[in-house]
Amino acid sequence: MGRTFINERLARLGHSEIRAMTQACAKAGGLNLAQGVCDTPVPSVVVEAAEQAMRSGNNVYSRFDGLADLREAIAEKLVRDNRVQADPESGITVSAGATGAFHSACLALFNPGDEVIVFEPYYQYHVSALLAVEAVPVIVSMHPPQWTFSIEEVERAVTPRTRAILVNSPGNPSGKVFDRRELEAVAALARQHDLLVLTDEIYEYFLYDGASHVSMAAFPGMADRTITIGGYSKTFSVTGWRIGYAVAAPEWSKAIGAMNDLLYVCAPTPLQVGVAAGIRTLPASFYTALAKEYQGKRDRFCTALNQAGLTPSIPKGSYYVLADASRIHGRNGKDRALHVLEKVGVAGVPGEAFFSGSMGSRFIRFSYAKTDADIDDACRRLSKLA
Ligand code: PLP
Repeated sequence: MGRTFINERLARLGHSEIRAMTQACAKAGGLNLAQGVCDTPVPSVVVEAAEQAMRSGNNVYSRFDGLADLREAIAEKLVRDNRVQADPESGITVSAGATGAFHSACLALFNPGDEVIVFEPYYQYHVSALLAVEAVPVIVSMHPPQWTFSIEEVERAVTPRTRAILVNSPGNPSGKVFDRRELEAVAALARQHDLLVLTDEIYEYFLYDGASHVSMAAFPGMADRTITIGGYSKTFSVTGWRIGYAVAAPEWSKAIGAMNDLLYVCAPTPLQVGVAAGIRTLPASFYTALAKEYQGKRDRFCTALNQAGLTPSIPKGSYYVLADASRIHGRNGKDRALHVLEKVGVAGVPGEAFFSGSMGSRFIRFSYAKTDADIDDACRRLSKLA
């Protein structure tokens, strides 16, 4: 064929460093810490309810915005864990993972040229989803080791085209947990400039060292201008099930639901049943045990990184860590990540994937969402990185 039929969208997005490193890792027969895939077992109540739903014939489309029972369970959970009120009938859209919820929200809310303020380091998918709808990510830097930022810098980034501020807490890739004071400052700015806040809270239960999760929509006056993205891929270790949600004021929620319908028709019905059962029946101790387990993985892995001279910015949440690999000789983060893969067989993601400028070249992101045996193996391998 003489011409290309692929449009310009893909070129705008660039390629996925995570996928590239995963492939390089498979080729090298290494240990893949590039991707965040939870190896912890799925709670049996979640699997059993989904299986029961399949066996009893609950295999057809659900309503486009999710099963009533799951929307109600999410609404109850939002009150219980997030101090957020949402109407299950008109304010919650169940989607194909948090990713589907985020795409639906971007499609529903942004016109080409609309600016969205994004904190850096960022989750690459967020930026790609914005670019896919021709919104313009406007980057504001956070600074290691605590990934602090200046609210004045955020304010300077606001222009007449700004539509929203994006917050991801606990964050991927930094593990930063925004504290109440930081969130309040962002909320005040959003109110002052009449902006939306998109908040991705998918790691809300992965919290360490006593950090607590505060939801943006819980601040006074913020529920009406916040789109909360959440989901159970990580919490219930069901990344392949594709169940997430968007919570928003009915006006926005209706538009998000319409886009969700267009993209996915609905999320997988029997799996919605499984997740609803998990939300309703798992006790608070399930979530504290999860955080404790991952804190143990974080501690062991970060100790090994330190000993290997790959200084980690100790994460307070999520299950990623950015390690400063500047002691490894290389032109960029890719060279450094490939060096670690070739030398000791541990794959991470070059920092460039999470930064717009040159700052990323110092870092490699590793995920410690691995079995204890894999974490031990990774620590052993890193100890050989002389
Ligand atoms: N949001 C963030 C910040 C993530 O890191 C990820 C996965 O890595 C997702 C969303 C994807 O969630 P889901 O599997 O529910 O689409």
